[in-house]
Amino acid sequence: MRVHIRRRVRFSAAHSYENIPDDVFQSGAGIGLTRRSVHGHNFTVDLCCSGQLDGRTGMVVNITDVDRVLKGLLMPLHESFLERDHPAVAWGIPSTENLAVWIWRACEGRIPGARLERVRVWEDNFLWSDYMGDSSNTVYVTRAYEFAAAHRLHSPALSEQENCRIFGKCNNPNGHGHNYGLEVTVRGQVDPRSGLACRIGEIDAVVNECVVDRFDHRHLNLDLPEFAKLNPTSENIAVVIWNLLRPRLGDQLHRVCVRETERNYFEYYGEE
Ligand SMILES: [Zn+2]
Ligand SMILES: [Zn+2]
Repeated sequence: MRVHIRRRVRFSAAHSYENIPDDVFQSGAGIGLTRRSVHGHNFTVDLCCSGQLDGRTGMVVNITDVDRVLKGLLMPLHESFLERDHPAVAWGIPSTENLAVWIWRACEGRIPGARLERVRVWEDNFLWSDYMGDSSNTVYVTRAYEFAAAHRLHSPALSEQENCRIFGKCNNPNGHGHNYGLEVTVRGQVDPRSGLACRIGEIDAVVNECVVDRFDHRHLNLDLPEFAKLNPTSENIAVVIWNLLRPRLGDQLHRVCVRETERNYFEYYGEE
């Protein structure tokens, strides 16, 4: 029986992207920064691994072995300036992408009985990268956004009674609203010169133009042509957002996740 486990470690550190060469930086690496300002994050790292369940111990991996490797790697970085104090970390460009790949490589094969499954590095609640050991250095970068919108769950394909029965108070004729969360995941190979797998500034611009600016503080049924005849369930919202972003982001688009409330998440990966 293979069981997956996950261990989380946090550290605080500064970075500045000062090692991205001038020509790459100025050519609009699209990292959403206009200057190399020194700034800091409370980085969060999840190491996911799996192993065979040991019938004697009831464990797959001894978590102290995971901690020894992961904390041994990351704790020296705590309260440091990554580029200046640890120039070899993440090949001198400590982006979330590079950190995820670097942590994977540093941990791989060092935890007895464990197979690495995923390293996730959060810069903050709005940006994180996943690396799953892909040999071509493909990393999945997720950006989170928020918008507030009203909607009414009502399907023209159903009778008034059926709408009322299925959607209950969400069928209220005057609508109701949510603070929606939106996660957009793109995939790309890490560019060794920039340490980045995507142009986050361009992703932001596209998502804001196509989705956030259009959806925020609107009544989805009344203000958006996409939902004039389409029931704005979160499932449909996720598919509509995918279809709005796909022509602009192309193949790099991997996932759209709509959070209606803290308890409801809806993900769409396109038609695989
Ligand atoms: Zn940063
Ligand atoms: Zn609702």
